[in-house]
Amino acid sequence: MKKVAFYTLGCKVNQYETEAMAELFEKSGYTVCDFDEFADIYVINTCTVTSMSDRKSRQIIRRAKKMNENAYIIVTGCYAQVAQDEVAKIEGVNLVLGAKDRDKIVTFADEYFKEQLIVKSSDISYTHTFEPLTIGEFKSRTRAYIKVQEGCNQFCSYCIIPYARGPIRSRDLDDVINETKRLANAGFTEVTYVGIHIASYGLDKKNYDLADLLCAADKVDGIKRIRLSSIEPMTLNADFIKKISGVKKLCHHFHLSLQSGCDETLKRMNRKYTVDDYYNIVLGLRRHFPDVAITTDIMVGFPGETEEEFSKTCAFLEKVSFSSAHIFQYSRRKGTPADSFENQIPSEIKAKRSKIVKEITDITRLEFMEKFIGCDAEVLFEQRVGGYFEGKTGNYMNVLVKTDAELSGQYKTVRLERIKNGSFIGKIVNNNYC
Ligand code: SF4
Repeated sequence: MKKVAFYTLGCKVNQYETEAMAELFEKSGYTVCDFDEFADIYVINTCTVTSMSDRKSRQIIRRAKKMNENAYIIVTGCYAQVAQDEVAKIEGVNLVLGAKDRDKIVTFADEYFKEQLIVKSSDISYTHTFEPLTIGEFKSRTRAYIKVQEGCNQFCSYCIIPYARGPIRSRDLDDVINETKRLANAGFTEVTYVGIHIASYGLDKKNYDLADLLCAADKVDGIKRIRLSSIEPMTLNADFIKKISGVKKLCHHFHLSLQSGCDETLKRMNRKYTVDDYYNIVLGLRRHFPDVAITTDIMVGFPGETEEEFSKTCAFLEKVSFSSAHIFQYSRRKGTPADSFENQIPSEIKAKRSKIVKEITDITRLEFMEKFIGCDAEVLFEQRVGGYFEGKTGNYMNVLVKTDAELSGQYKTVRLERIKNGSFIGKIVNNNYC
């Protein structure tokens, strides 16, 4: 029986796709093993968000080759899609399978299990169908991801993803709900809907949107929590927020990608909102979900970002008071408009700005968490960490409880007693929530 091993770089969409491909191999009689084991086939699901992601993808391909120099190596995902010739030239690569046709990966592996180099990726810009990758069960997790959307039409000036993933395509609502039911039957109580630009869900279908999907998922027996992955802010208009405020199982956590708190910078980034638009969305969410956690992505050092523009971003971060932020230093991506912009920012200035943003968001994060000290929260426990069991609240705060009990997959009410290293330390109680 042939063995196949997977390595996933990048986002939750990639994680979902890896799980789906692993299931296809298993159904065809292959054994899935760890990436550090000797395997007949290695599949590297790559990312290309930054040049660092490309480098890491190349490193992992070389690592696979070292594990078994006769292995058949399949490289898939975004880096394989946008740089297929470059990837095909890496020693040991047998199959380059971009960001589509992964549902046929086993056929390709069977068919081409001879030493010959094949480039399977083709132009993705005219792809309008949703790649039919599905999952019946997730291994070793309490939370399941479900991919509901593919592609992006936004073309932010710094981003390579629309070229890697193609135009927006939505998975049929019934299909998503059926997979949600299958995962509920497999024992999952929490699902996270993921996509490349999840805010566009349904725009290519015309008769439903993301809010309709959430309302339908709310009715699935066995599911207790529904999460959304990172979402672009502009979908969250007043009507949308009002509609989803009735979705009882929706977790009160929204990761709203901001990127910059300065209108001039946002315009050069080709983002389609102003800071006032963004702030109104934050206020709307806080009005409907009082315990909501709003987290974000911030990019520092975008070409032409002056000290004044950066100061505006800092002031806006303080005004919004995010629960947490991912901070990125702008990284040039060949093939994007921003790569040729003037006034590229030196790396030492990017590093300095990144540090300042971290200091601000560390403070706002702590302020957010302190509001919950002494409250009781429902926690879904996931894994043991030393003498503690670790889990997440609905609004995605990390909680640790000292216990010898096995709590994986269980919900408990926890009193949040103190904060240590960004997590709550608490104890299990039976009281009502704050
Ligand atoms: S919205 Fe912008 S940053 Fe997000 S995937 Fe699309 S182009 Fe990239």
